[in-house]
Amino acid sequence: EAKAAGRDTARYFSVETDQRISARQAMEAQLRQAVANGEFTLAFQPRLCAHTSRLLGAEALLRWDNPVLGAVPPAEFIGLAEETGLIQAIGAWVLQRACQQWRAMTEIEPALDGLHLSVNLSVAQLADTLLVPQVQSALTRAGLPPACLELELTESHLMDNPEQAQQQLAALKALGVLVSIDDFGTGYSSFAYLKRFDLDKLKIDQSFVRGMLDDEAARAIVQAIIGLGHTLHLSVVAEGVETLAAAHALAALGCDELQGYGFGRPMAQDDFLRWVQGWSAGHERRRHRPEASA
Ligand code: C2E
Ligand code: MG
Ligand code: MG
Ligand code: MG
Repeated sequence: EAKAAGRDTARYFSVETDQRISARQAMEAQLRQAVANGEFTLAFQPRLCAHTSRLLGAEALLRWDNPVLGAVPPAEFIGLAEETGLIQAIGAWVLQRACQQWRAMTEIEPALDGLHLSVNLSVAQLADTLLVPQVQSALTRAGLPPACLELELTESHLMDNPEQAQQQLAALKALGVLVSIDDFGTGYSSFAYLKRFDLDKLKIDQSFVRGMLDDEAARAIVQAIIGLGHTLHLSVVAEGVETLAAAHALAALGCDELQGYGFGRPMAQDDFLRWVQGWSAGHERRRHRPEASA
């Protein structure tokens, strides 16, 4: 009987595995067409000063809407895009499109002038010798000053191949763009790279930020990251700020910038522009009142 159950389990798992493999293959085939078919768009999520609540910039986040698969979140396709090498084309599209759209939005909404656009890079892009010319060309074609662009990398991106990362970062910094470390605290934290690389910002991972109000350890980690960042002359950003209470706690700890659903979700261009208008108009009134409160 145990043997039969074992066989059933094995059969069940192999059916499930087959289904997973074909779902993956289907997604890969769709992903291959996605750039050409214009299925990608960008959403923009605002980032604010923790102390004045002024708008400082936005992060461009990739959105994929496929006729068959529907809206697929980045967590479900970025990994696949990396494994298949498709990330190079997708990443190049993101850079070009983000700069172009940011410039266009700046022309519509003067409040965005001089603010910062952040773009996420994948490890495969950092390994690509085309990255620096791609960044340069995206900026030039959009007519965007390099100091307005921030590139977000993760810790593991830098430690995968530190020599190469160091060269690429030096070339990117020479263009005049800013570099931040995304999801800080979740990689295999070798602090060596903080000294080695010329960085501008740390983005505290949202798991610590979301946990900090009722978890003493998460709060201690947030506090330590802010202290470490400031000692190294880096600006510190908190992601995943969902409540007014969290925003206040982060400001009290000296965190510099806030990003999260409590202020604004990632939005398509028109919604983002409306959000910016509302935020700028009501800035004084709403100074310490994020949209969603605790
Ligand atoms: P990330 O760069 O750390 O981006 C922040 C993610 O947290 C976004 O998810 C955003 O929607 C979400 N988020 C922001 N505020 C809150 C909050 O208050 N609460 C919660 N629960 N979530 C919040 P999204 O857009 O699904 O992106 C997930 C990840 O996919 C990104 O994490 C980034 O690593 C990757 N990604 C997105 N766009 C791109 C891209 O253009 N290129 C590359 N290489 N990766 C991208
Ligand atoms: Mg990011
Ligand atoms: Mg992050
Ligand atoms: Mg990330």
